[in-house]
Amino acid sequence: MPFSVAIIGAGPSGFYAAEALLRSSLDFRIDLIEGLPTPFGLIRFGVAPDHQSTKRVVRAYERTAKDEAVHYYGNVEVGRDVALSELRRIYDAVIIAIGAPLDRELKIPGGDKPGVYGSAAFVGWYNGHPAHRDLAPDLETESVAIIGNGNVALDIARVLVKTPGEMATTDLPDYAGEAVHAAPIKDVYLIGRRGPLEAKFTNVELREMAQLADCLPVVDPGQLPEEPAAEASERDRRLQAKNLDTLRSFAALSGAGKRKRLHFKFFSRPVEVLGESRVEGLRLERTRLEAGNVVGTGETFDLPCGAIVAAIGTRSRPLNGLPFDANRGVVTNRRGRVAKGLYVVGWARRGPTGVIGTNKPDADEIAAHIEADLTEAGPSRTSGSGRLALEDLLDERGVAWISYEDWKAIEAAEEAAAEPGMPRKKLIRVAEMLAVLNEPRAAQRDEAD
Ligand SMILES: Cc1cc2nc3c(=O)[nH]c(=O)nc-3n(C[C@H](O)[C@H](O)[C@H](O)COP(=O)(O)OP(=O)(O)OC[C@H]3O[C@@H](n4cnc5c(N)ncnc54)[C@H](O)[C@@H]3O)c2cc1C
Repeated sequence: MPFSVAIIGAGPSGFYAAEALLRSSLDFRIDLIEGLPTPFGLIRFGVAPDHQSTKRVVRAYERTAKDEAVHYYGNVEVGRDVALSELRRIYDAVIIAIGAPLDRELKIPGGDKPGVYGSAAFVGWYNGHPAHRDLAPDLETESVAIIGNGNVALDIARVLVKTPGEMATTDLPDYAGEAVHAAPIKDVYLIGRRGPLEAKFTNVELREMAQLADCLPVVDPGQLPEEPAAEASERDRRLQAKNLDTLRSFAALSGAGKRKRLHFKFFSRPVEVLGESRVEGLRLERTRLEAGNVVGTGETFDLPCGAIVAAIGTRSRPLNGLPFDANRGVVTNRRGRVAKGLYVVGWARRGPTGVIGTNKPDADEIAAHIEADLTEAGPSRTSGSGRLALEDLLDERGVAWISYEDWKAIEAAEEAAAEPGMPRKKLIRVAEMLAVLNEPRAAQRDEAD
């Protein structure tokens, strides 16, 4: 009898966990339980709309989803539709793969003023995440500050400064495109507490900033050190040298005819959000590094801006019955083990770090734990009943769960609705997605009448 495993969350880490279990010597039945109708987590809702080639990784996930041992249960949110404790009763093992979807607060005076947005919410808004559709960020401003020096900050900056032409072959939803392109934004600031050597930008993303149609990247040459850090590893020194070269090369670019500027502000620590009833500016303190630590110099300056996006990290969401490390914002675990029969992978385990592929070794590690734990425990405790018991529970509760084939129907509707050159026109509201599935069923009913 195969062992039954439930994976909560169908983002990259959930798919890598399923894939690792399929490669195992044990026989598994794997159920991927996803809160939204759509699979793939941040590949759909995080990765930038103008980076469609990155999203092609889902082709590998698709092969996993189509394996006969794997079932997809979309539109089933654990904690709302079914409890974690129920899943633990009916499955031999449960894997948490829920990511880190909650924004960290900007903990400075005024950090909660209207006009300050967390990056998860802001990125979710321009990527059509149902939970962030109604964010309606106020972009009636000439100047936006983005706090953070990683690729997420660069993604947000690109979306704010690219022209409608540059976004024409993306899946940016209409409402977001209209809001961004009608906004009078001229200056976007990327704020980092540390310097260019410590910035987490990958070089490919940084280089893209030199190719923007209507925006000039601007760096203060005085903030660029001559050399990579002496104490860094050989690999890090190579990466730092590349980024330094790229940042230096920006000085040679011409801004003639370009309306927008993207300012890299290093060694600047946000200390206060300024404004009466909403954001009017950001007060920053100049910093320097001492033995790798950020030290304030006491010297401050004010940056006028009408919107702030804080790309300062995210945390996972505690689920009832799940031990949670509130400080780190992750599920408490020891190398992926949470408790007997309970495991965690991906951003829920490590926090928001690394690239898509970084989630793979996690998955391999917990697949090995599960294999060892179940081999030790003996024959399947649930005799493979997890799936049937789950479907009974969901049907009893009237949960409108959807299968992988249903998702493919939603995807086909999105592709059919796309303008030429666009990959898809995303359906945003859950009800709109479910309506696609009801259409043929309703039509069949009409025919029968
Ligand atoms: C803005 C942004 C841009 C990025 N761009 C890149 C890039 O260009 N290249 C790159 O390599 N990496 C990129 N990344 C990183 C990459 O997206 C992550 O490494 C990866 O998505 C993490 O996978 P995960 O499965 O842990 O989490 P997620 O992708 O967040 O997936 C978690 C899934 O769990 C579901 N879920 C949550 N709670 C529940 C629940 N209670 N019940 C059921 N389901 C639930 C969610 O709906 C989601 O589908 C980016 C990240 C962000 C934030």
